[in-house]
Formats: sequence, structure tokens, C-alpha cells
Amino acid sequence: MKTSTRLDIKAIKAEFPILDQEVNGHRLVYLDNAASSQKPRAVVATLERYYERDHANVHRGIHELSTRATQAYEGARARAARYIGAGEPEEVVFVRGTTEGINLVASAWGPENLREGDEILLTVLEHHSNIVPWQLLAQRTGAHLKSVDISDDGRLRLDQFDELLTRRTRLVGVTHVSNALGTINPVEEIVAAAKRVGATVLVDGAQAAPHLPIDVGAVGCDFYAFSGHKMCGPTGIGVLWGRRELLEEMAPYQGGGEMIEIVELERSTYKPAPQKFEAGTPNVADAVGLAAAMDYLEDIGLERIHAHEHDLVAYALERGAEIPGFRDLGPVGDDRAGVLSFELGDIHPHDLAQVLDSRGIAVRAGHHCNQPLMRRLGLGATTRASFYLYNDRDDVDVLCEGLNAAIEFFS
Ligand code: PLP
Repeated sequence: MKTSTRLDIKAIKAEFPILDQEVNGHRLVYLDNAASSQKPRAVVATLERYYERDHANVHRGIHELSTRATQAYEGARARAARYIGAGEPEEVVFVRGTTEGINLVASAWGPENLREGDEILLTVLEHHSNIVPWQLLAQRTGAHLKSVDISDDGRLRLDQFDELLTRRTRLVGVTHVSNALGTINPVEEIVAAAKRVGATVLVDGAQAAPHLPIDVGAVGCDFYAFSGHKMCGPTGIGVLWGRRELLEEMAPYQGGGEMIEIVELERSTYKPAPQKFEAGTPNVADAVGLAAAMDYLEDIGLERIHAHEHDLVAYALERGAEIPGFRDLGPVGDDRAGVLSFELGDIHPHDLAQVLDSRGIAVRAGHHCNQPLMRRLGLGATTRASFYLYNDRDDVDVLCEGLNAAIEFFS
């Protein structure tokens, strides 16, 4: 996967106007990309152009602007399908983000497919978005939740899948990349094990789609969800990919305009997927913006982006090893994305993040919506620096200076 072609970070940074500013009297060093990424000019310009020239409601109109908006929206769907190697655009449902995508599956697929005593298998690496919707479903159906642990190096205990997957396992929910530790999970292997017991698999791609080439066919899963705002796209838009036959079988998630064929007062018939799952006026502009973000990322190349981020983490680990009390919590190896979750002696992550902020460095401190994982690690919180294509070694150096300054400040 790694390639030696280096990215021209100076040119890439210049595409992100927000990075060209001072925060608290220092150059902004933005290292909170796992929470949300910044947007290149190409995406902002696409949104502007869409609103200035093409906006109208989609599907229903016979006039020129509605036709253009519909073409732009359906074009974005086809673009998203290509981005993840989906067979057909109809397998792409636009949603608000990963959270809504997972809730859609839990609400629309779950009740028809789970009954009392069935099992849902998750992992301790899951974000709350891939836990709570399944808890709600378990409460509705009487199904049980189980979870695969990690070993102390932050990797999933793959041996536990064999123990915990049973004929009662209906659903396996697993994150492709951990937002808290940066672990890249071997999802193909996990899907293959789940398929041996006939389970349906949802992969949470929130931290993978922005950073790695994705091919849902090769992963072999049934559902794949991700968010636009973490991949240079707008907020409020994301993708749920589902296998055509599963989407066709599922009942609608919400009712309203756009998703129906015929409405009578007592009953209605529905359009096929994906329209069946997109009730009401969709988020046309942001879907179009997301397509522009996908163009932008693919023009640079996701393999190169991943190699660059991997290199930054390796450099950060090297520099971190020189800092007293620095302890990285993620796995060391090729299965590591650009996330650096760490402890720094006994400095509380919130205090550390505040010191870093006073130096213009944006990191995240807390449980990262991974409370079960934090409990497993015996921690309340970590400090997390997460890299993207516009970060460079200078940013890592500034971070390390900030860590040394915090040590001095709290000593
Ligand atoms: N899953 C993972 C692994 C995440 O990192 C996040 C966001 O941080 C989500 C799900 C939820 O994404 P969103 O808030 O965009 O719905």
C-alpha cells in the first residue's frame, strides 16, 4: 500500500484557506482531523457555484434548474458509488453521516431480522455511533450484544471472533479504522468469519473512507457507512452503502415526500431504493460538495494520502519517544492510520489540550466517543492528534515543542 511518491504539502496547504491563520498568536496547526477535516477551495467553490447557478428542489420539477439540481445530485450518487467501488449508484443512500447510516440499518433492517435470543457482535473499538443504535435495537427485539476485545497492543483479538460468532449471530458491526487508536482492522478477514455463520456485516468506515482506498466488494460486507465532513466534504452529508438486495428488502426508515409512489389516506407504496430511504428534500448541495471532495482526494491519490499519514505517525512516534512520559496507545506497524492517541505523564488530557491550544495547536482530549474502549484501557481520557493530507513534519515538531512546554508548565 505504501508508495514513495511524496505529496507536495506546501501546495496542498495552500488549497485550504482556513489553515492560513494565527490562533492565539501562533500559526494554526490543525491536528483534529479524526473529528472533522478542513475543506479545500475546490469544495467550497463547488458549493458556491451550485447555490449561485443551479439550486432548486430535485426530482419533482420540470424546469431547467430542477433538472440541473437533479443531475448534480444523482451525479454525486454515481460519484460516491465509484469512490467505494460499489456496483451501482442505487446502492448509495445519502444520509447525514455515519451515525444516521448506522441508525438507518438498525431501524430499517434490524426489527425484521432479529428476534429474542439473537446476537449482535461488536468490538470494544467501536465509536458510540456503532454501539448505541444496536443497543436500541436489542432493547426492541430481545437480542443480546457481545463484544470482541483488543489485546494490549490495541489490535482486535481476532481469535475471539471464532469463539463469539455463533449461529445466533445476526449482525456484526465493526469499525474499519479506530478513531481512538488508529488501528486498521482486517475487515476482509472479519467479514469472512462472520459470513461462515451467515451473519450480516456493517462496517463503520468513518475513519477509513477519508484516508484509504475503499472497495466494498473486496471487503465483502453488506453495509458500509461514512461521513463527508471527515473527508474534505461538507457537514450534514454522508453515505450508507448497502447491497442492492438487502436495501430492496428493507422497510422505509422515515416517511414523507420523494420516497413514495402512490399515497392513499390509509396506505402508500414506495419507490425502490435508494429513494425509499431519502424522505423529504435531500441535502442536494452538500452531496454535490461531497462529490467534489471525492474528486479532490482521488486526484491526489488515497494510497499516497495513507502513506503520507503513516509516515507522519511514524515520525511522531520517533519524536515522542524522546519526550519524558509520552506513551502512545495505538498499534505499531502497517496496520496504523494517522491517529496518535497518547498519555503524557500524569498531565490530564484536557489540561494538555489547553496548553497546546494556547500555542495554536488543535488536538482533541477526552473519551473520543469510545467510553467502553477507555474503560478497557483503564483511562478516563486520552489526548489525540490526528493527521490528514495537509499536515507535515513541521506540524509534528510544533506538537512536540508544545508537549515539552506543557511538561515544563506542569512541573
Ligand atoms: N464512527 C467513527 C469511527 C467515528 O470516528 C465517528 C466520528 O467521529 C463516527 C462514527 C460518527 O460520525 P458522524 O458524527 O459524522 O456521524
